[in-house]
Amino acid sequence: MDRAKTAGRLLAVGFTVIFCLNPAVPARAAGPAPAPPELEPRLFGPPPSPEPEPEQEAPGAGNEVKESYIRWVDFNAPAPLMRQLIEMDVKSRASGETAPFDWIEGLAYLAVKCGGDFRKHKAAQLRQLRKALEEGKTVAGLGEGLKTYAYYLEAYGAALGGLVGAYEQETAEGVWEPRYGLRAFSPIAKGFAYGHYDDFGSGRAYGYRRKHLGHDLMALTGTPVIAAESGVVEELGWNRYGGWRVGVRSRDGLRYWYYAHLRQNRPYAEGLQKGAAVAAGDVIGYVGRTGYSSRENTNGIEQSHLHWGLQLIFHPSQKDGPNQIWIDLYEITKLLEPRRSATVRDPETKEHRRALGYREIAGQARNDG
Ligand SMILES: [Zn+2]
Repeated sequence: MDRAKTAGRLLAVGFTVIFCLNPAVPARAAGPAPAPPELEPRLFGPPPSPEPEPEQEAPGAGNEVKESYIRWVDFNAPAPLMRQLIEMDVKSRASGETAPFDWIEGLAYLAVKCGGDFRKHKAAQLRQLRKALEEGKTVAGLGEGLKTYAYYLEAYGAALGGLVGAYEQETAEGVWEPRYGLRAFSPIAKGFAYGHYDDFGSGRAYGYRRKHLGHDLMALTGTPVIAAESGVVEELGWNRYGGWRVGVRSRDGLRYWYYAHLRQNRPYAEGLQKGAAVAAGDVIGYVGRTGYSSRENTNGIEQSHLHWGLQLIFHPSQKDGPNQIWIDLYEITKLLEPRRSATVRDPETKEHRRALGYREIAGQARNDG
């Protein structure tokens, strides 16, 4: 094939991708969305690392052929709105409707209405949606023909897919109760204080100038860190930015939860290792202030805190490559605030473990495989 023809074809593929598969572009034009991390200029810094992490730089962009997958997600849906939609979802299931309301579909529909920027969301839009549903319409029906609905559904489905579903909860009396609802947990154990504000995208200066691609929860050293969602431990060990850190991949593979700056000397829950399965609500480690050093086990951070991140992975190249998608966890932290995992402390080992049993019922959450 001659070279000009190939180049023309590649260009056409590129345009198709931009216009059909990335409706986030018009959505982003609506508000002052943060620049994708790969556009951050690198001013100075260390040589590229073989294993890039969220608090590290991404290597230079390659010239790979464009494929069709989502490349950017902004997420700022407020916690009270998510709570209302989850309530509608739970009620609808409890009433045994044949096509129950799916809160993520509802959120995707409302995102279309505000262009993905929920600072522009109006309460009337939710009222109208409720009314349409009462009249027997479905969100899928309402979303059909709306240009960006499929995009928001896929993007939010990836971000939120594991948060609501069916599970069994052990009660204090030792009875296992089947439940359906919010099943993800706050990353800070019950009874432990933390402080936070929306710090996603703010500047960080260690190593080189870059954006903060996570959410910091200020807490005392030794505070038990909880797995927000069930999954498999994918990374565990030292990272020069995150210090002692652990990364958990959701079972559907779309989410990578990142917990960093864990405690010096004893960062992790006993026995936690790469490849281990963790359940939502399990103790996985302890808050500390390690990181910002290439020397292992260094307390390089001034104030102890948990750096919590959520990476979305629509294509394997997005995990460690230059096009990582990290979303703001501020509103999700607020959503999960009332759902804290109770822990008990072993007086001998001083280790914390979850107080009550929990198991998920597969096939009930949006992205259960
Ligand atoms: Zn942080």
